[in-house]
Amino acid sequence: ESYKRIDKVEDKVQAFLTLDEERARQTAKTLDEKLNNDSQKNLLFGMPIGIKDNIVTKGLRTTCASKILENFDPIYDATVMQKLQQAETVTIGKLNMDEFAMGSSNENSHYQNTRNPWDLDRVPGGSSGGSAASVAAGEVLFSLGSDTGGSIRQPAAFCGVVGMKPTYGRVSRFGLVAFASSLDQIGPITRTVEDNAYLLQAISGLDPMDSTSANIEVPKFVSALTGDIKGLRIAVPKEYLGEGVKDTVRQSVLEALKILEKQGAVWEEVSLPHSKYALAAYYLLSSSEASANLARFDGVRYGYQSSDAESLIDLYKKTRAEGFGDEVKRRIMLGTFALSSGYYDAYYKKAQKVRTLIKKDFEAIFEKYDVIIGPTTPTPAFKIGENIDDPLTMYANDILTIPLNLAGAPGISIPCGFDNGLPLGLQIIGNYFDEATIYRVAHAFE
Ligand code: GLN
Repeated sequence: ESYKRIDKVEDKVQAFLTLDEERARQTAKTLDEKLNNDSQKNLLFGMPIGIKDNIVTKGLRTTCASKILENFDPIYDATVMQKLQQAETVTIGKLNMDEFAMGSSNENSHYQNTRNPWDLDRVPGGSSGGSAASVAAGEVLFSLGSDTGGSIRQPAAFCGVVGMKPTYGRVSRFGLVAFASSLDQIGPITRTVEDNAYLLQAISGLDPMDSTSANIEVPKFVSALTGDIKGLRIAVPKEYLGEGVKDTVRQSVLEALKILEKQGAVWEEVSLPHSKYALAAYYLLSSSEASANLARFDGVRYGYQSSDAESLIDLYKKTRAEGFGDEVKRRIMLGTFALSSGYYDAYYKKAQKVRTLIKKDFEAIFEKYDVIIGPTTPTPAFKIGENIDDPLTMYANDILTIPLNLAGAPGISIPCGFDNGLPLGLQIIGNYFDEATIYRVAHAFE
């Protein structure tokens, strides 16, 4: 069914970078045979899933939407892929993204522009644009994305689907090609909150291969979907409804709060005073980490290699000059500069201090409240090409999603009304390792 739908709409949406129908049919066949012998059905049994192309898949091309990895066939599976095998899902293919997950529109992909299924002239968001568009277009039921500074939640909002960024450490990053290791998290994108809870359940947990994965019990997230939110304490940061946020977006959040109030929740306005520095701190820290992480792409170990190099150093230089796109180069330069001696204290160290203050803002709120609610993005999906020459406007898109990555807390985006036929997203942020409460609140809208 997935492939039928893909045949029908993929020409327009262009969400997939690699499709492997033969392999998917083989997996489905094996699962079918198993089902006959043993009908102990796994809840995700046989479900078609798409995977963002920065999650390594054994024997299945993994490009990070970069030329530098154009023919990279990984020799191992990411931990989440092993977990999906245990959950008996069927991998349909690999999904488009911004190159190395740097971007908010999928326009930074070396290969293609994924389009927003709600309006093909608009972006699906990014960097997990393919992951959100494929679910919105009905090509797959589930997908995995990654979120370093909003890359699951922002495309989920733009495409009208449900996207969760789990607490840092909830899901193993082993086999996720690193962008900014202290911020990256893999998470599920689905049509419904319930599906999302099942998928997060399947991929979560401690992993000896990732020392930052948390040794904290994974609760049964679906048990949280009780429909009962009586007495729930909601904080609404005034910074999330202020300047730069479109009126329709603000209205949709206020409507959502009314719905929750009717069900017995209470809300109050609060402040996240340091969130105005989040964007600057994020781009410094994430670019610094990226400049170190991306040093491994040297033309020797993986993927693309320049063909006219005269020496080893020349090979590194030419491979990287030809293999990386403009945005990736911009970030490597910024990161290298911020980490260089003489500037380190002024930029990197200062940004780390800001990060701590932002974390403290969140911790203070969670002493008194169960969740924080606001919009996911300041506007609905913008037009393809609209922001492409203006990195700063593009970066501003992430203003409401980034603080959470710096703090490490979990957050979801769920559909929340429309603006001129374009979906809007509601962001529900929870305390550390309390994705269950987020799901409980999100479910109250279904
Ligand atoms: N848009 C942000 C960036 O360009 C977020 C990326 C992400 O979360 N991977 O860095």
